[in-house]
Amino acid sequence: MSRIVVLGGAESGVGAAVLAKVKGFDVFLSDKGKIDGKYVEMLEKWGIPYEQGQHTEDLILNADEVIKSPGIPSTVPMVKKIEEKGIGIISEIEFAGRYDTAKKICITGSNGKTTTTSLIYYLLQQAGLNVGLGGNIGMSYAYQVATEKHDYYVLEISSFQLDNCYDFRPDIAIITNITPDHLDRYDYKMENYVKSKFRIIRNLRPEDCFIFDSDDEITINHLSQIVTQAKLLPFTQKDEVAQGAFLKDDKIVVRYEKDETDIYLEELALGGKHNIYNSMAAALAAKASGIDNKTIREGLSTFQAIEHRLEPVLSVGGVLYINDSKATNVDAAWYALECQKRPVVWIVGGTDKGNDYSVLTDLVKEKVKAIVCLGLDNHKFHESFESIVGSDKMVDVKSAEDAVKAASKFATDGDVVLLSPCCASFDLFTCYEDRGEKFKEAVRNL
Ligand code: ADP
Repeated sequence: MSRIVVLGGAESGVGAAVLAKVKGFDVFLSDKGKIDGKYVEMLEKWGIPYEQGQHTEDLILNADEVIKSPGIPSTVPMVKKIEEKGIGIISEIEFAGRYDTAKKICITGSNGKTTTTSLIYYLLQQAGLNVGLGGNIGMSYAYQVATEKHDYYVLEISSFQLDNCYDFRPDIAIITNITPDHLDRYDYKMENYVKSKFRIIRNLRPEDCFIFDSDDEITINHLSQIVTQAKLLPFTQKDEVAQGAFLKDDKIVVRYEKDETDIYLEELALGGKHNIYNSMAAALAAKASGIDNKTIREGLSTFQAIEHRLEPVLSVGGVLYINDSKATNVDAAWYALECQKRPVVWIVGGTDKGNDYSVLTDLVKEKVKAIVCLGLDNHKFHESFESIVGSDKMVDVKSAEDAVKAASKFATDGDVVLLSPCCASFDLFTCYEDRGEKFKEAVRNL
């Protein structure tokens, strides 16, 4: 019996272990940290041997193949040892893809993955298809392949998951956009990060589709250097395209094969320029999946906003509070500021990932009246924006509660208080969800 060792005992790793068990492998799971109680219970229920708090070499280096969770960098010593022994390392997505014949719509990119994935899932559901949602969202793909049967999967796939994909093949692949992020995992080389994202299209056949943002220079440059057989479906807010999606007057036009349909921008459920891109990508994926125009149009207008992504929380004294805690990089915050129509009190800050804030200068000049810095180290924000908003309009705080209080003092009737931090949350919070929850609670307590 072949032996599969899974490194990492969270959603992805445990899902992969369950699938390996169901497929009759000799499975072992190892996590150097503590495994969450929920996952311990699952491992025990499925009778999967595991260890936590350590990696026992003898139990790992006898594997025929290793499935590595995406959170584990390839630089950790155990991974190096596995490589030195010549044992193949794959991702959970690669493994699950071997046992799944469903049609797969796979979404990667720097920003907009979750929104686009959720939109497409919703459109396929509205069309009455038997569809699963997975990857980086909700239940792992592998666990679903082990325990459910779907005709379609809509999968959000991070670059970390793509790094260990080799034969995995989507039927429809989407790259939402590519902007610098997570460069610490790619030797600080943008080229490596771009290549990792493009792994999503490496196995596409002529009948498969590649949907991408043709306004994104990084995507276009890389695409011009590679060969793909797939049907190309660009989306753009600049030009008209023969196949793909573009803007015409106040509508999105979607052209796929011989069909053309349009969707009024004002009918889109999600506001902002970035969500026009996301809606275009979703509409194209739905068209390429054979969904009728009416379902697409209705679906894009009835979709509900997702938590922590430009999520309106409450209006207090005529001030609207918006939770965009998921804006963990500069590009996401750019789009959040860009779509604000009212003066903004901006709550920003957190763990800096080597960010360059200069691209935000014009938007800050135009829209931001005060800044509340919510981070342990805020010096880059002061350097970048104090000369624009004024030193009396910038304060530093260390909790969501104080941030909301400070912002409420700056804001007057008709303003927006926008939490769109540009940064990761780990200096003061456990994760972006924790930051968003605490922000919302503080707003409710105002
Ligand atoms: P991801 O899953 O890639 O992190 P999300 O859909 O969760 O993307 O959105 C993350 C952040 O990026 C949110 O703040 C959101 O408002 C912003 N965003 C969403 N779509 C886009 C896009 N197409 N371009 C830039 N920013 C976006």
